[in-house]
Parts: sequence; structure tokens; C-alpha cells
Amino acid sequence: MSTKSCPVCSRPYKDESYCPSCSWELENNIYLLGETQLIERRLQQRLEIAKANWSKVKHADRMQKTTMRYAEVFRMVLGQLKELEERHPGIRGEIGAIIKKMEN
Ligand SMILES: [Zn+2]
Repeated sequence: MSTKSCPVCSRPYKDESYCPSCSWELENNIYLLGETQLIERRLQQRLEIAKANWSKVKHADRMQKTTMRYAEVFRMVLGQLKELEERHPGIRGEIGAIIKKMEN
């Protein structure tokens, strides 16, 4: 059991070198040579960029799901309006106008 988690996307990991979700290098202290402060600053910068990018990825993912859901609802409402149009000849013109707007 491991309690380590990716510093970018919070996904738990055991001994992977790279995070399978966001590709952050998890065990990245092997090759670090040079001035400690500079290395830490660079790592911190990389971490901030990776976190910002991961946040964009998650946002885009949510947006896509929302768009797909809206498209689903839209198709459903359009289908119901068409049924309504068939059943109510008296207001066919009004319903038809709404359908026309939705389809354009
Ligand atoms: Zn990650």
C-alpha cells in the first residue's frame, strides 16, 4: 500500500516513473546535478506549468461532456416537438417555426 500521489493530478502511484494520467515524471531526482536552489526553482516552475496544463485538460474534458449532454437534450427536445407538431394540427405552424429555428 502506497500513499504517494502525483503532485500534478493527485493520482496515487506506486513505483511508476511517469504518471499514467498526466505524464508528470514521478521519481525525477536521479539525474539532478548542479546548484540545488536552481534545480528546485526549475522543478517548481515545471510543476506549476504541469499543474496549469492539467487543469486545462480537465476543464476541456468537462466542457466536452457538457457539450455532449446538451446535444443529447437538444435531440430529445427536437424529437418531442416533432411528435407534438403531429398531434396538434391547430398549433402546427408555431411548433414548426420553433423546430425550424432549432434546426438552423
Ligand atoms: Zn499525474
